[in-house]
Amino acid sequence: MLMNIQVQCCGLFILCVLFIFHITRETVGFRSTKLYSRVILANFTCLILDILSIILISVHQGAPSFGTVLVARLYLVSLIVVFLFGYLYTCNDIHVLQRSRLSLALAIGFAAIGSLLAMLLPISIEYEEGRAYTYGPAVNATFFAAPAFILGTILLTIVFRRQMNPHRKAAIRIWMGLELTAGVIQFIFPELLLIGFVTSIGIMILFMELENPESEMDRTINVFSSHVMLDYIRQLYENNREFSGAFIINASEWKVSRAEEEAIMMEMAAFLKQIPRIKVFRGAGNDFALIIPSKFYSDDMIREIYERFILTWLGYEIHSTIIAIPTSRIAQSPEEVTMFYQYFRTKSLDSAERLIFFDEQEHARMQKAKLIQQEIISALDEDRVNVYYQPIYSIQKGRFVSAEALARINRADGSLMMPGEFIPVAESTGLVEAIGARVLEKVCAMLRDHPITGLGIEYIEVNLSVAQCENRWLADDIEQLTKKYNIPPRLLNLEITETSAIRFRDIVISNMEKLTQSGFSFSLDDFGTGESNLNYIVHMPVHIVKFDRSMTQDYFKNERTKLVMDSVVSMIHNMNLKIVAEGIEEKYQVESMAAIGVDYIQGYYYSKPIPLVDFLSFLHEHN
Ligand code: C2E
Ligand code: MG
Ligand code: MG
Repeated sequence: MLMNIQVQCCGLFILCVLFIFHITRETVGFRSTKLYSRVILANFTCLILDILSIILISVHQGAPSFGTVLVARLYLVSLIVVFLFGYLYTCNDIHVLQRSRLSLALAIGFAAIGSLLAMLLPISIEYEEGRAYTYGPAVNATFFAAPAFILGTILLTIVFRRQMNPHRKAAIRIWMGLELTAGVIQFIFPELLLIGFVTSIGIMILFMELENPESEMDRTINVFSSHVMLDYIRQLYENNREFSGAFIINASEWKVSRAEEEAIMMEMAAFLKQIPRIKVFRGAGNDFALIIPSKFYSDDMIREIYERFILTWLGYEIHSTIIAIPTSRIAQSPEEVTMFYQYFRTKSLDSAERLIFFDEQEHARMQKAKLIQQEIISALDEDRVNVYYQPIYSIQKGRFVSAEALARINRADGSLMMPGEFIPVAESTGLVEAIGARVLEKVCAMLRDHPITGLGIEYIEVNLSVAQCENRWLADDIEQLTKKYNIPPRLLNLEITETSAIRFRDIVISNMEKLTQSGFSFSLDDFGTGESNLNYIVHMPVHIVKFDRSMTQDYFKNERTKLVMDSVVSMIHNMNLKIVAEGIEEKYQVESMAAIGVDYIQGYYYSKPIPLVDFLSFLHEHN
């Protein structure tokens, strides 16, 4: 007994292989993946029914039983269902149709009518010379409904071409094109049963183009790739699914070879992947992102991960910061989640905190920081970054010999924003360099336009941020600027902090040496905060040490601080350096500082930081 089922058997074989690949792959669980499974299953059913009907027809040659007719009709229905799923799979890429109940209802309604006709209209069954096939109105109805879906699907890829993933668009067009060709051939030669096979080929094309395991995985470390993360988060938001998660932000520069770096990343990935129920994604650079179903999330789980990350990886210590997000409800949109990530990425680099729970409080802090960041950007744009001057008094000379330039931002509404508010944000966003450059430029312009040396001012002190000090071009930039304004270098004293000197010591020292050679001088700011270390001063070319307000205030409250400061003053003087005491507010404080040998006084007792015009009249009045 001959049967024309060879082609279908090939199709079935291809489908089985694909199906095994499909279900054993690691997948993040996109809707498209689920729809794809349905396309496979529908086609599987279709091929089985196709083969079964041919076998039945061949067995009952000439006199088909009720069962044979039923199977033949079910095959027609399954054919329509395959194309219905193909159509829905395509809709999933198109935002307006993805959730549209109307479009879904129309498609299903249309498929239902087609199926009903295939079940009810007359059908003829033929068997000749080993070839079984069907024809008649029921078959014609199917051959109307199925191509309608095919054409509809092609139309979607044309109308919504801009919204579709280009790979999916191409794959679907090829698939549908093949189906159309096969349909025409089968319509003209009913005994050539190509459609089931061609559908298997189409599904294989989809697999190769889009649904293959590689497309979601990061090739090197075998976690989900970073581009998949945003798509997945989008899908969770679209389905109104609450979730939890964490970002693991690894410091950017590891002092290891490329191969070691990969090995470390693989070890980290392997550790994360063995934790049940979390999805591990690669973030930017060497970061990881974890997505955890909310009901399985706990702070302790994150703490356990953290405990592992503070240990070494292949013997190397990697500085990682973990940001836990207990609930996605804190963000309104997927874009906001990625914004959090970006925010922490820039922030965490110098953050001492290595485990942060991103709660309401942290959220509010972040939003405030964002507003401040925008304010800084527009202030820089609209020239609202201004310089105030705080006079510095020389005890020895009995007059004001200097002033510290302090940045202020005039908000658009006219109010004043203080450095305490904007400097930390500027530092974490990299804007501090631009602010520093602006302040320097304004100070130079002031020195050019106002001959304050004639009023007894010997130099102006300007704060340098850590970022500026670490810039290789700092010395060149400053020299160029002073040349542009024709300012002698001795008029500028640059304030640096110990932090700058610790991190990138070589660059900072080389900048300082170049500038000192050109005639600029330096002050060490913030002395007495944190763990000030006299060793640093010994090795740095500074001329002045500035006692921070916290220390000078403590002098009057704390006997121990008093003792320490008394001896520190003489040590600093032994190094031939001068001392400024900051934060002096009362007359008796001036007297005490003078008594222990401090050279200069800066504080509210003499003046707060004031705008340039006020500073000029201050000098006219007092010097
Ligand atoms: P700083 O460099 O130590 O500046 C001294 C700060 O102490 C100033 O605060 C000044 O107003 C304040 N101060 C001085 N005398 C007294 C006093 O008697 N009582 C009180 N309560 N405070 C006094 P300000 O202007 O708010 O600046 C704060 C910090 O912001 C500065 O500390 C400096 O670290 C930073 N900063 C200001 N301008 C710039 C800038 O242009 N660039 C950079 N990188 N940092 C800046
Ligand atoms: Mg300062
Ligand atoms: Mg200071």
